[in-house]
Amino acid sequence: MIAHKVICQGCKKTFKNHNSWRAHYRQDCTASKKYVCVYCSFVSKRKFGLKKHLLKKHHVDENSLKKLLEQT
Ligand SMILES: [Zn+2]
Ligand SMILES: [Zn+2]
Repeated sequence: MIAHKVICQGCKKTFKNHNSWRAHYRQDCTASKKYVCVYCSFVSKRKFGLKKHLLKKHHVDENSLKKLLEQT
């Protein structure tokens, strides 16, 4: 029996099903967009992660935060 596999178009990894691929693409696909901190080498896979980082580590205010997140 041939298993129905899903191949990620970004990184060519194979997945058992569409759901596991979606979880991968959202969270750890190397091809998906990454959010990089402009102040240090911090990289987040999620916009929320970078937002949290900027607020905590660099104490940016809401206005510059918006601008920084738009750039990425
Ligand atoms: Zn991938
Ligand atoms: Zn940083």
